[in-house]
Amino acid sequence: MDRKETIVLGAGLSGLSTVIHVGGDWLVLEREGRPGGLTRTEDIDGFLFDCTGHWLHLRDERVKRMAAELLPDGLSTVVRRAAIYTNRSFTRYPFQANLCGLPSQILRECLQGAVEAAVRRAGRGGAKPRNFLEYANFHFGEGIARHFIVPYNTKLWGVSPDQVTAEWTQRFVPVPDVAQIVDGALGFSREAMGYNATFLYPTRGGIETLPRAMFARLPADRFLFSTRPRRIRAAERWVEFGTERVRFDRLVSSVPLPELVDLTEDAPPALRRAARRLRCSVLRYVNVGLSVERPLDGEHWLYLPEARFPFYRVGSASNALPGLAPTGASSLYVELANDQAVPDGDVVRALAEFLKEIGTIQRDSQLLFAAFREHPYGYVIFDRHCARARASILDWFEARGIDSIGRYGGWTYNSMEDAILDGIRVADRARKG
Ligand SMILES: Cc1cc2nc3c(=O)[nH]c(=O)nc-3n(C[C@H](O)[C@H](O)[C@H](O)COP(=O)(O)OP(=O)(O)OC[C@H]3O[C@@H](n4cnc5c(N)ncnc54)[C@H](O)[C@@H]3O)c2cc1C
Repeated sequence: MDRKETIVLGAGLSGLSTVIHVGGDWLVLEREGRPGGLTRTEDIDGFLFDCTGHWLHLRDERVKRMAAELLPDGLSTVVRRAAIYTNRSFTRYPFQANLCGLPSQILRECLQGAVEAAVRRAGRGGAKPRNFLEYANFHFGEGIARHFIVPYNTKLWGVSPDQVTAEWTQRFVPVPDVAQIVDGALGFSREAMGYNATFLYPTRGGIETLPRAMFARLPADRFLFSTRPRRIRAAERWVEFGTERVRFDRLVSSVPLPELVDLTEDAPPALRRAARRLRCSVLRYVNVGLSVERPLDGEHWLYLPEARFPFYRVGSASNALPGLAPTGASSLYVELANDQAVPDGDVVRALAEFLKEIGTIQRDSQLLFAAFREHPYGYVIFDRHCARARASILDWFEARGIDSIGRYGGWTYNSMEDAILDGIRVADRARKG
C-alpha cells in the first residue's frame, strides 16, 4: 500500500493553504475538475460571477503578506456601499445604526424599542439572551428585531432566529450603542460599521484569481482532480479512492463534516447520530446579466427583509469592479430565501418587478439572462445541538490524526481568510509533530 505523510481532501482555500504550508510528502484529492471550491468564478458570456459576493477582508498579517505576494496584479480596495430596501425606502447598512429614511411609524417603533432595550440593559432587567431572537431584542430592541433582524435572518436560514444561538454573531452583526442608534435615526451617522466596511478584491479576474495563484505555486502532479474517497478507515489510517488504497500519517479534510462521517467506515454509531444533528441552509442563487450600466443605484448589495420578495439579498459585483461585466452591461447575484420554495420563473418575474420598482430597469428585455445555481451547503444553522455535535465529531477525528477544517469541514460560519488560516494552523501543528 502506498503511503503519504499528509493526504488532503478538497482543494478549496483551506486545502490549498494546508499544502502551501505543510511541506513533506502530500497528496490532494479534489472531487471537482479544478481547485478553488466556493471561490471558483464562473464566466457567462464575459460576465464573471463568483458564488454570490466574495469580498476579501484581511486582518491577519501572514495572510495579507501571502495575498500580496500571490497576486502580482494587486488587490483593489473597495469602500462598501450597502443598503436595506424595505417599505419602499432605502436606508444605509447596517439597519440598526441607520434608521433615518424609514417611514415615520416604523422609525418610531425601532427607536422606542432601542431606548427601552438600553434602559432594560442599564437596569440589568434583561435576562441573558439564549438565542438570536433574544440577542436582537436585548441589543437592538423589539422594533429593529421585528422590522429587520427577524424577517431577514429567517429568509437567510429558513428557520426562525429563536431556533438559532447567538454564537456566530459577535463578528458578523454590528452592535451600535443607543447613542449611535439615535444618531443614525436622526441622520447623523457617519461611521462605517461592521467587519466589511472596506474590502479587497483582485484587480483583474474574479475571486478565483486567488486560488489559481495558490495552485500555480504547487506541483500539479500531487493533485488528483475529479477524485473523491470511497471510504476511509480512521483506525488503520487509510483512504480508498478509485482502485487505490493509500495510508496516511495525517488526513486533513475540508469535505463537509456530515459527509466525512459517512465516508469513515469505523465511525461509531454515536458519531453518526451527532452528524445527523448538523443542519445548514441550502444555497440557491441566480447569476444575472443586465444591459444597463449601474444597477441598484450603484450599491454593491441590498438587503431585502420583506416576505414579498423571494430573495433576501441582491448584489452587483460589477458595481464594485466594473471589469467583471462587459462594457455597457452589469451583473447581479440574487440570493434566494430559504423559507420559501418559489419556482424559477416566478423568481425571474419578481426580480424584474423589483428592478423596475427601484428604477434599475425599465423593460424586461434589459434583463439578459438569469442562471440558477444551487449548492447543498450554505449557512450552518447554529441550533441548540450544533456546538456539542460538532465538537464531539471534531474531537473524535482529531484523536485519530484527522483534522477536519474549513467552512464545512469545521462546520462553521467563516471567511476566506479563516479558511486560509485553518490551513496554516494545521500545517504549523504538523511541522511541530
Ligand atoms: C454564499 C457565500 C458567500 C461568501 N462570501 C464571502 C465573502 O464575501 N468573503 C469571505 O471572506 N468569505 C466568504 N464566504 C466564505 C468562503 O467562501 C469560505 O470561507 C471559503 O471559501 C471556504 O473554503 P474551504 O476550503 O473551507 O471550503 P470549500 O471552498 O467548500 O472547499 C472544499 C473543497 O472540497 C471539495 N470536496 C467536497 N467534498 C469532497 C469529497 N468527498 N472528496 C474530495 N473533495 C471534496 C470541494 O469540491 C471543494 O473544492 C462566503 C461563503 C458563502 C457560502
